[in-house]
Amino acid sequence: LERWDKQYVWHPFTQMRQWQKERPLIIEKGEGSYLYDVEGNKYLDGISSLWVTVHGHRKREINQAIIEQLDKLAHSTMLGQANITSTLLARKLVEITPEGLNKVFYSESGSTAVEIGLKIAYQYWQQQGEEKDKDKRKFVSLVNAYHGDTIGSVSVGGIDLFHKIFASLLFETISAPSPYCYRCPLNLSKENCSMECVNEMESLLDRHHHEIAGVVIEPVVQGAAGMLVAPDGYLAKVRELCNRYNVLLIADEVAVGFGRTGKMFACAHENVSPDIICLAKGITGGYLPLAATMTTNEIYNAFLGEVYECKTFYHGHTYTGNPVACAAALANLELFEKDKLIETLQGKVTLFTEGLKRFKELQHVGDVRQKGLMAGIEIVENTATKEPFPVKYNIPHRIVLEARKNGLIIRPLDNVMVLMPILSMSLTELTQVLDITYAAIKNVTEEET
Ligand code: PMP
Repeated sequence: LERWDKQYVWHPFTQMRQWQKERPLIIEKGEGSYLYDVEGNKYLDGISSLWVTVHGHRKREINQAIIEQLDKLAHSTMLGQANITSTLLARKLVEITPEGLNKVFYSESGSTAVEIGLKIAYQYWQQQGEEKDKDKRKFVSLVNAYHGDTIGSVSVGGIDLFHKIFASLLFETISAPSPYCYRCPLNLSKENCSMECVNEMESLLDRHHHEIAGVVIEPVVQGAAGMLVAPDGYLAKVRELCNRYNVLLIADEVAVGFGRTGKMFACAHENVSPDIICLAKGITGGYLPLAATMTTNEIYNAFLGEVYECKTFYHGHTYTGNPVACAAALANLELFEKDKLIETLQGKVTLFTEGLKRFKELQHVGDVRQKGLMAGIEIVENTATKEPFPVKYNIPHRIVLEARKNGLIIRPLDNVMVLMPILSMSLTELTQVLDITYAAIKNVTEEET
């Protein structure tokens, strides 16, 4: 199996020679908070299998819902037809998402959810009636942002390493500074910055609003940017700016949605309703690929017209609204209610917050950022200068291997160690995640110096 994997499979981001030399971790099964490899070793899933698993692996209720749906219908098209589970799920999503989001457009991944959000916004301004708004073709997004890998979502992404190579293919985006308080792009300190980064966005919108279709942001936490937690009030201020300058707010809740930040949706932390919301990852609890882009009736109505007017939204996928994926999502959402997951999260979040405090005492931890059950621990060589370790030392990957040796799967984003434990983990398991990560960081970084 190992040989075949190396011979035939191209893994995302990890084809480098170093991985070719290492033995791949081949996962065979999952149970609750654990993954098991083909040799029978067991690992706590500290990243929720790339931020998707909600109620644990091999959850009986979700498996059952999938099997029952498969027994009735595996797939049928959404073009001019409907299926039962996608309709029921849409109704449920409208009920639980922030107010005003009334229409659901399905796709299959976080990237497509964002791509669709951008295309809806772009097309909306082209056909909503006002001649003066037809110039609204650009987007504002944050430096460091990650919104996916399709060309549209790459356009609003800011991570140079991922995006620079495609520069000539991208549509125009204007970058606003990220609220990266540990390394403030405006060289201010968090205590007395007056959220200057939002003020920068304000002046940017003031100058460009006539050509801006929307502002795209991850509410409250920029995940793949390095778990950057925005200051309180940041999101509400962005909402207010979007209203004032007549641009759409597109909230990418692909990572932060479905309980990850301690509330069902991150927008709820600041009572914000976006014009468009992008959902994926946790929507099926980690069982099947599904995404949803939701918007308001007002925006949807701009796409209505007679057939000869060709006012349709120019987007549609073969597997859109797949009934099996929608059945998994419905079962996932039912479990949120049945297990009172959001309510029980609060105790776990407190334990997580407390447990993360001692990481700051480590010699090579520069910053610890956390919201709900998502955290980033930024590793630096020197805490005074905030200088990271030279890349050649490969510190983040060595921490990953050290944690794996002790039964925990984690992944870094650059020099930030990311913890995204499964939301249903017990307090004991969460403590283990913290303890193993702490020891791995300590052993690897302090051995280096
Ligand atoms: N948006 C955000 C905020 C994400 O974190 C991700 C994935 N990490 C995406 C979009 C893209 O999702 P996918 O990988 O499912 O296409």
